[in-house]
Amino acid sequence: MFIKKFTAVLLAAALVVFPVTGAAAAESTAAGNGKIVCIDAGHQAKGDSTTEPVGPGASTVKAKVAGGTHGTTTGIAESELTLAVALKLQSILTARGYTVVMCRTSQDVNISNAERAQIANAAGANAFIRLHANGVASSAANGVLALAPTAANPYCPQIAASSQALSAAVVNGQCAATGQKNKGVQLNDTMSGINWSQVPVTILEMGFMTNPTEDLNMANDNYRTLMATGIANGIDAYFASVK
Ligand SMILES: [Zn+2]
Repeated sequence: MFIKKFTAVLLAAALVVFPVTGAAAAESTAAGNGKIVCIDAGHQAKGDSTTEPVGPGASTVKAKVAGGTHGTTTGIAESELTLAVALKLQSILTARGYTVVMCRTSQDVNISNAERAQIANAAGANAFIRLHANGVASSAANGVLALAPTAANPYCPQIAASSQALSAAVVNGQCAATGQKNKGVQLNDTMSGINWSQVPVTILEMGFMTNPTEDLNMANDNYRTLMATGIANGIDAYFASVK
């Protein structure tokens, strides 16, 4: 952070000494907005059923990474969908001036949910976006929801309010872009990747892979771009609200 601030001071000094055109000034803005976003594409090619504590110091354990759901119509694995949207979100956010840290950029990894949170913590992320998709028994269920910790979370109560605001912003952003049903924010203190997080976090359940329409939509490249754009808009709105 010190290096970044120092660079910003130098840049400001340079602007005073060498007045620049509007185009050059816009370029310097695009070079960085000072915010770090960590993106976790949920799951991976193969789950890992060995266990880890659900939070720092917890005696309760859960699988390190669940296998995830899959499209009942398309057969697409949740891990493939989350990675595709994560890579789109990475490029959109980078173009908007964010520093983006990816928990993974390929399917062939084995990174536990606790480790993913620790990647976000170590990066000093200002927001940790965990992308997932839903799967339930009923094919009728559809829509977008986001998970956030409660203020009574035993591991990370200090990020409850910011995580709830982040969750609301991204679910609203995606639904505004795609027109999907907005199922709002659900509070949840059982997720390892939330409990291990020390930075504002959300799990975005981008849609139901068990709903034929939503599954087919989410398999479409243009629709994925729309989803990622909406999520990015939500991230912008979150930072606009907390500055
Ligand atoms: Zn998932």
